[in-house]
Amino acid sequence: MGAPGLSYLPDHGDETYHVARYDLRLDYKIVPNRLSAHAVLTAVARRQLSRFTLDLSGFKVSAVRVDGRAAKFARRGHRMTVKPARPLAEGAEFAVEVRYSGNPRPVGGRWGDIGWDELTDGALVASQPIGAPSWFPCNDRPGDKASYTVAVTTSSAYRVLVTGDLVSRQAGASATTWVFQRREPTSTYLMSVQIGRYDELPLPGPVAQRVAVPRRLRDKASADFGRQPEMMACFERLFGPYPFGEYVVVVTDDDLEDPIEAQGMAIFGANHVDGRCGFERLVAHELAHQWFGNSLTIARWQDIWLNEGFATYAEWLWSQESGGPGVAELVREWGARVPGSAFPIGDPGVAHLFDPPVYKRGALTLHALRGRVGDERFFAMLRSWATVWRHGAVTTADFVAHAEAHAGEPLGGFFAEWLGRW
Ligand SMILES: [Zn+2]
Repeated sequence: MGAPGLSYLPDHGDETYHVARYDLRLDYKIVPNRLSAHAVLTAVARRQLSRFTLDLSGFKVSAVRVDGRAAKFARRGHRMTVKPARPLAEGAEFAVEVRYSGNPRPVGGRWGDIGWDELTDGALVASQPIGAPSWFPCNDRPGDKASYTVAVTTSSAYRVLVTGDLVSRQAGASATTWVFQRREPTSTYLMSVQIGRYDELPLPGPVAQRVAVPRRLRDKASADFGRQPEMMACFERLFGPYPFGEYVVVVTDDDLEDPIEAQGMAIFGANHVDGRCGFERLVAHELAHQWFGNSLTIARWQDIWLNEGFATYAEWLWSQESGGPGVAELVREWGARVPGSAFPIGDPGVAHLFDPPVYKRGALTLHALRGRVGDERFFAMLRSWATVWRHGAVTTADFVAHAEAHAGEPLGGFFAEWLGRW
């Protein structure tokens, strides 16, 4: 359990610089699972730097250049230390160019295999929390948000979906190059590439929404995501405007353990569609992450309840809205099932990062706050939280201060009771 303020993952990311944009060119051969890539990072030094660190897991790195000059680099595990030919001045903008190739493999560890992974017929990326270095060199800390251009060249028989707007698609003899732009500041773990034989199912409504799905699952997905446009309208009413231009759901042909969110995207397994809306709770959860987690991203993993507690509470709000069990009933049920937590959910420790109390007690905390300040102030506070910090990085201290400003009273004791410490 880390002391408050210290990073949970000190071996990820580098605080001495910020990446403003990533330009990634990926050439991917599906059957041998081989990636040849060229990455250009535009970064800003936060202090004078004679060296800095990138996260990249696996691959053979053939060249690293800083501002066009060859740079020395040394690799140890997923860490790559880069020594520019000349030190970088504090505040200087600099470009890092990395050429690398090899068989992308997920990052293993306490959260299983995460990152770039092969499907039976294609590939997917699901990176939370530390999988991004499985496919591109990055400053892998959640609060370091950047814009991206991602170009993927692969067999023309497959559809490529990347978190971002498709800006061009050029078909060659056998391969097609797809270029995507993600303009909104985005955390490395929320960038995703999906490659498969997908059909596309558009959904109606003012916010562009579509489902990419294997043909055999199209009818089931059509039923299971049928109420998503209503859900979108409900969440826009409660949380404010949807924070991205489009929402894309990908249903893979393989089973997945859990659905996972990416920027403007969510990925579900074949096992999460049954044609009977049996997983609608998860549809609501992933959509809610677009506000809480993706637009507002936690600056440190310690504050994970700001993602998961909020997405869980959104599930309950949708349940009530859609005629399922009401919020009061769900609060009673989960209050009895998760009556306390063996660890402070405001500082759960790396080992408990994705444990049920973070989700359920997190949601119960929000409900208790709602009870304390009343519906009107609570929902105004929630909408303003998502608006004021839109596309930013947030901490629990930010949320406590925000809630206090709306409540018009100190809430330190209230949050200490629910979150432990933060
Ligand atoms: Zn979640």
